[in-house]
Amino acid sequence: MGKKYYITTPLYYVNSPLTIGGAYTTIVADVLARYQRLRGKEVFFLTGSDEHGQKIKKAAEEEGISPQELADRVVGTFLELWEMLEITNDDFIRTTEPRHEKVVEEVFRRLVKKGDIYWGSYEGWYCTPCETFLLDSQLSEGLCPQCGRPVEKLVEDNYFFRFSRYQKLLEEHFRNNPDFVRPPSRYREMLNRLKEGLNDISVSRAISWGVPVPGKEEQGIWVWFDALLNYISAPNSLTPGGEEEIWPADIHLMAKDIVWFHSLLWPAMLMALDLPLPRTVYAHGWWTMGGEKISKSKGAAYARDVVEEFGPDPLRYFMLREIPLGLDGDFSFEALAVRYRSDLANDLGNLLQRSLSMIKKYRKGRLPASGEDPAGKVILEEIASFWPRYHREMEDLKFSQVLEGIWSFIHRANRYIEESKPWRLYREDRESGRLDGVLFTLVAILLHSASWVQPFMPGTAEKICRQIQPSSPIVPAFSQAEANPSGVVRSGQLIGKIEPLFPILFSEKKE
Ligand SMILES: [Zn+2]
Repeated sequence: MGKKYYITTPLYYVNSPLTIGGAYTTIVADVLARYQRLRGKEVFFLTGSDEHGQKIKKAAEEEGISPQELADRVVGTFLELWEMLEITNDDFIRTTEPRHEKVVEEVFRRLVKKGDIYWGSYEGWYCTPCETFLLDSQLSEGLCPQCGRPVEKLVEDNYFFRFSRYQKLLEEHFRNNPDFVRPPSRYREMLNRLKEGLNDISVSRAISWGVPVPGKEEQGIWVWFDALLNYISAPNSLTPGGEEEIWPADIHLMAKDIVWFHSLLWPAMLMALDLPLPRTVYAHGWWTMGGEKISKSKGAAYARDVVEEFGPDPLRYFMLREIPLGLDGDFSFEALAVRYRSDLANDLGNLLQRSLSMIKKYRKGRLPASGEDPAGKVILEEIASFWPRYHREMEDLKFSQVLEGIWSFIHRANRYIEESKPWRLYREDRESGRLDGVLFTLVAILLHSASWVQPFMPGTAEKICRQIQPSSPIVPAFSQAEANPSGVVRSGQLIGKIEPLFPILFSEKKE
């Protein structure tokens, strides 16, 4: 058996439910996972929760509960959200699980033995919200450079990871792998950070909520050192050559603020462990609201509220269509409602409804034979040539561009109805085969579109196909649709019940 295609999201902190920013990474990962599975690959898609650290401890104390109680409650909201968004992760790892803690302890022991972790004294700063050690030189006007909040002075003895030892090896890896960090702007940023030089870094603290340092229980392992190891603890890859090879990750997905941990610290840890490095570290942008970073404390745009209002597919579509992966985007309920009405309800939903209504009226509800329409033939040829582009762009994570390409077919189809005037063909030219040709082409566009949008909007893809060909409500498989674009239409079959694909929103009804 070959190696599985391995996709990860970062672990989410359990201090509060997820905003749409947190949901975004998981949606992107899910689209990619679904796409790879549809291409016939075996996929291992991992997400999970980060439950240790000072931040969690403080949040729990404020509520008067234990950190574990807080974690259990918030993890419940994560799992519920993933179900609502139809996320198809293969595993969910919690850093408080024994299977994870065992690996963290083992790694710590190994690296101490190797001399890559040593006992030293730390004097510097710590940002609890970011769970990050900071040197004087890294502060920005005395505050945390990442979140802008006050930092606390820290003078303590703890364990250090010999990060500096991996400087040269990392530089070499960056040089030989220009796609190691993507997009290119992040690659350059990380390469510059690397060139500034790596300092050994504290990897334990005198804390009580974390994996205890083996043999020195009063020290807890630093939460980032602990969390990053989930990528090998979940697939049990610390010992290579297990029964199924999963590591290395094909892609680590995350927001740009934590790319440093994934593209410098984590690779150095892996080098220390003699494990291969992930193939790609991909950092996406931030979602803002009204131009400001979405902050949990401001209580804005919880993913759950958005899904409850719009459903999973419109949110999935919006987030991947609105901005190219890697750039920042601004979220608003209004912008989502606009895409819902225009792209989804008007363009796609109406195309389906119009096409099926004409088949019902002109062909007694039976899917037509291929017929004879020159313009339709051209469209079918364009569909055939879009397939290689679709795969190229999906593999390259150009999701926004792919969706634009698909929508150009949907717009084209709506124009095609106006231009070919099926109602006139029905009155004046019923038997020449042109009417069949037009209706056939419309159905073909819809079925191919369903196939293309399936990774993005799985429920919608199925609904489209069920209305067109209810006796086999299956979205055309990539390989079959690509090999024989006309073959997707099952001529002669009766269509299903015609229903609006994207009904009027509750909030619009109120108006
Ligand atoms: Zn901070």
